[in-house]
Amino acid sequence: MNKFSIAIHGGAGTILQSLMTPELEKAYKDGLQTALDAGYAVLKNNGSAIDAVLAATIELENDILFNAGKGSVFTNKGLHEMDAAIMSGVDLSAGAVAGVTNVKNPIELAYHVMTNSNHVLLCGSGADDFAKEQNVQLANDDYFFSEFRYKQWQEIRESDGYALDHSVTGAGEKKFGTVGAVACDALGNIAAATSTGGMTNKKYGRVGDSPLIGCGTYANNKTCAVSATGHGELFIKAVAAYDVSCLMEYKGLSLQDAMNIVVNDKLVKINGEGGMIGVDAQANIAMLFNCEGMYRGRRNNEGVNEVAIYK
Ligand code: ASP
Repeated sequence: MNKFSIAIHGGAGTILQSLMTPELEKAYKDGLQTALDAGYAVLKNNGSAIDAVLAATIELENDILFNAGKGSVFTNKGLHEMDAAIMSGVDLSAGAVAGVTNVKNPIELAYHVMTNSNHVLLCGSGADDFAKEQNVQLANDDYFFSEFRYKQWQEIRESDGYALDHSVTGAGEKKFGTVGAVACDALGNIAAATSTGGMTNKKYGRVGDSPLIGCGTYANNKTCAVSATGHGELFIKAVAAYDVSCLMEYKGLSLQDAMNIVVNDKLVKINGEGGMIGVDAQANIAMLFNCEGMYRGRRNNEGVNEVAIYK
């Protein structure tokens, strides 16, 4: 049987073991395992990579611990504006949404953009209209409320600052983030998905790297599928996900070597804190980050099944 595999992340950043309780750590690991299993079940039943990343990302969006879907951070106006993208390496088909407000699973809406529209990226109220038209499940503001995100926002709402959901604040509090998945199915097709609430206290319709094809999300069967997490502005400037693909395509590097250059050299040089996960069409996985930790997990049909947080 051909090898197949899936990897997921739940954000990277200043995740300090010293600030984590055993209960919280268990809750994060359980959440990651649930998502990993949901995606893996699709692959095991001969499902496609695109369906696997969709299934895994929906689980992470539904988990209040992660900054996507239900657990999304607050904007400066006290709203939740979510970004998501999904891409298939088979034919480069892609769908993305930015700044959607009351969509329960933004990654599902991105999937609808990919499959049911002639577009790649829809934003704001237009994307919300498309969600209604597609009968995607909506949720009211209460659904997205969480006490700890609210507190995160209160700490900086009067400032001009905005915060990576998973960086440590002045108060020493830890914060966590964006979700994503990459998969390679038994046919050797690969796919990537990323979903986020963005950055706490963001203003002016700020959009990060997650929904931008080539920046936070990319997939091409010739090279790799990548989902990134980190300080979006820098990942946009670096065209980070596509750069991994380019290094593989034009320089013949392996996924691991290409990602290492982007994450641990190119992004570091521009202070681009974060990490990424990737898979190639031989089901090899890479998961790299240039900060203290990244919520992550991987599973394949050769017995690998692990979730991890720290280096
Ligand atoms: N990359 C995301 C953004 O900038 C944030 C994150 O990864 O948590 O919107």
